[in-house]
Amino acid sequence: MATPKEMFHAKRAEVLIKNLTARHFGACYCATKEEALQKALSLIPEGSKVGWGGAMSAQEIGLLDALEAGNWNAVGRNTDGGVDVFITGANGLSLDGQMVNIDGLGNRVSAIIYGPKTVVVIAGMNKVMDTLEAAVQRARTVAAPINVQRLQKETPCAKTGVCYDCKHEDCICNHIVITRHSRPVGRIQFVLVGEDLGF
Ligand code: SF4
Repeated sequence: MATPKEMFHAKRAEVLIKNLTARHFGACYCATKEEALQKALSLIPEGSKVGWGGAMSAQEIGLLDALEAGNWNAVGRNTDGGVDVFITGANGLSLDGQMVNIDGLGNRVSAIIYGPKTVVVIAGMNKVMDTLEAAVQRARTVAAPINVQRLQKETPCAKTGVCYDCKHEDCICNHIVITRHSRPVGRIQFVLVGEDLGF
């Protein structure tokens, strides 16, 4: 029997999928990392050229290793727009079906916006906030300061874990992108996972 937390995630995912679908995204829910891996692989035709960026959640479900070991042309961290499928994550999602991402150079968000035929977003339900405002807040005050630690930058948030809305030359919050619809229909596919993934 599902735990209360699993039931909570599944119920919220139902609401989110309805709203993502209304915005022309593809979306599905997987309760576990293992299910999510199989679902994500089914969305990526064998033989296709696959790149990724900002894909900690995809790494955590084993997707990047599986692509490198299998019958795909996995080109790794590649955001040049020349790939068939681009794998990424989300820094925040709102229950009404909008995605928030922060980027330093803009290469990741540019691949989400235009270029690859398909974008597959792997997102744990820990990324889902009640409102767009809260999703932006999450991206700026949780995802970005943790990414600064990963990237070993010297921004003010690196010292305290708190965002100071900085203008530091190392700032990674140069592009804050809200993706509110998918065009063409179904170009952006979400695999939502009922576990905490990424940051
Ligand atoms: S302090 Fe700067 S780099 Fe850190 S989260 Fe805030 S805006 Fe981004």
